[in-house]
Amino acid sequence: MIRGVLGNGRNIRFWIDPWVSRIPLKSLFPDLFRLESEKDCKVYHRLELQDTIWMLSWKWRRLPNTDIEEEQLEDCVQLIEGIALGANNDRWVWDSASGEDFSVFQVRTWLGSDRSVQLASAFEWCKWLPIKCNVFMWHMLMDRIPTKKALQRRCIDCGDLRCKFCNEQEDCIDHIVTACMLTCGVWNGVASWVNLPQFYFFSINDILQIYSSSGCSKAKKSALHGVLILTCWWIWKARNDLIFRDIRRNVVEIVSDIKALGFIWFSSRFKKGLLGWKDWQRFCFDVM
Ligand SMILES: [Zn+2]
Repeated sequence: MIRGVLGNGRNIRFWIDPWVSRIPLKSLFPDLFRLESEKDCKVYHRLELQDTIWMLSWKWRRLPNTDIEEEQLEDCVQLIEGIALGANNDRWVWDSASGEDFSVFQVRTWLGSDRSVQLASAFEWCKWLPIKCNVFMWHMLMDRIPTKKALQRRCIDCGDLRCKFCNEQEDCIDHIVTACMLTCGVWNGVASWVNLPQFYFFSINDILQIYSSSGCSKAKKSALHGVLILTCWWIWKARNDLIFRDIRRNVVEIVSDIKALGFIWFSSRFKKGLLGWKDWQRFCFDVM
């Protein structure tokens, strides 16, 4: 597919064109898009330089004020945070996993063998998780997570390339999310909580297989789907907290956070109020 690569932001439509992710912002945040007063505004209309920092500059028909609007606003800000306009014109690229410019060869390669894009295309979004978790998972399936290894591929010097959790293997997404010692401990904790045998992942592509191959009730399947995505996202957050904030979390803390956060989101968004904390802790959905 064609995606905008941001330059000066004068050609890419903020809401309508895919640029910050492969899905346009109007589809990611439909309730916010409804409040936009200039629906075909360009990116440079919404990003403004204030004291050397690029800030979002909104033009709402009315301010977002419902829970869902405020939540979408928070997710949208997180997604765009850190993005700056440049001096060059915007470009359009064929959005292959390797990030190459459009060519017939690229299209053919993408159609024929780009498994990561195919996986990402087939990725089913979890309805009870916030968009940021789904976007993370989707980027991860496309190998778009800025690990040290990925940044090195783009010629960005990250110094020590080792995983900060174990200081042994390289900081790449497969290692961080599936193979690191700490991560394996987290997955063991999660497997035991959701009453499944120990997980063995060889790559990130194996993670969602567990959900698609599990034969259980609709509610339990949806819960498991979200828990798998949430676990990946929370492991990534723990990795970032360690690298950027020097906060080290252990397995027990990470699993407890996943349970607590999962309960808040699941119980408030999936058949509201039907599930209690005790049932969630036992991962029991008989009441639903
Ligand atoms: Zn490691």
